[in-house]
Amino acid sequence: MDIERPNGSPRSSGGGGLPVGSPRQPGARPRGCDAGHRHHLAGWEPLSGEDLLERLRITGRPRPRAHPDLVERLRSGLESGLRAGGRGDIGGRPGSPPSPPVGLCHPAPLVVTKDRLTRALACEAHHHASESGQRPVSVALACGAIVDALFRQLVTVGSIGDAMTDGLAALAVDDRRSDLVGWVERLSGTERDELGAEVERQAEGLRRRWPALDPAWLPRTQEAMRVRLADGAFELSTRVDLAIGRPAGDVASVAIVEVKSGSHRAEHRADLHFSALLETLRSPAPPFVVATYYTRTGELDVDPVTDELLVGAARRTLMGSRLLADLARGAEPGRTAKPLCGRCSVLTDDVGQRHPGGPGPWAHGDRDGDGAAR
Ligand code: SF4
Repeated sequence: MDIERPNGSPRSSGGGGLPVGSPRQPGARPRGCDAGHRHHLAGWEPLSGEDLLERLRITGRPRPRAHPDLVERLRSGLESGLRAGGRGDIGGRPGSPPSPPVGLCHPAPLVVTKDRLTRALACEAHHHASESGQRPVSVALACGAIVDALFRQLVTVGSIGDAMTDGLAALAVDDRRSDLVGWVERLSGTERDELGAEVERQAEGLRRRWPALDPAWLPRTQEAMRVRLADGAFELSTRVDLAIGRPAGDVASVAIVEVKSGSHRAEHRADLHFSALLETLRSPAPPFVVATYYTRTGELDVDPVTDELLVGAARRTLMGSRLLADLARGAEPGRTAKPLCGRCSVLTDDVGQRHPGGPGPWAHGDRDGDGAAR
């Protein structure tokens, strides 16, 4: 995993596009002023200011060019694979001629989000239980939601005041977050103080490290991306924390950043690859980079976008979408004992209960608070 550490920054040119090398703006936050949190690796300090932006801008690879043939192959492979009897030969030959969408007969599209994909591919039974139940709020989920809101505020307004007050005020204007806001307000004094301390610590990291983004780079928070396929039977949908750069022309110029308040997870990259796929399907060129910024540690996981990355994302999306379609039409969810069972919060099924390891905070309670509408 390409996690940013100071000595690991590639410095070779990655081409033009996102003009993050332009002169600093008046009043921009200073660079290299993070004297706070230290990473667990000795001698490592998180990037900040211009260095952080440069790491995003210069990936060490040439930026992808607009590639209509690849986009056509990705789209036709998905279209074909989402239709009954289709081959879904993504990245290879064009798909088969149109046929009915797989197993779907209701008029509303099946919405495929990154969370649904990840859950269904990890365990169909877990996904099924998660879809039919209320998602329980946890401290980790609340922290993630508040830090996400603070990141949006920092990018759009340029400052964060009292972290808990600002974060909860931002969430309170969103009806979908009313349960979470109410849950936080009902916390005991000690629990709320602990949550507030962690939120403030992560907010302070953002204040110290995140540079001001020039409006000319068109920074966009909570950018929604949707692509309909198979005559509208499927809607691929995501929302990214931050997109920077003008929509691409001939050469990729958009960077996509997700913010996570928790620890590294393998699915974070898969989530970003899904976003890269959607941006590619809806724009003339793909994004040139996708990255995850970890507010707890200040780490930046940078992933340059390549054709192989996009083909892999399309194959995973096709596999997960077909699973979701099967479940939507009433197929029995598969349940097979797996290492995840030991950490699964859905322990009502006997596969999980028989698995050694006992209950744990998998998927229900410990995802960052960012997946509700994606
Ligand atoms: S216990 Fe295992 S099989 Fe059952 S839902 Fe959880 S992960 Fe899936």
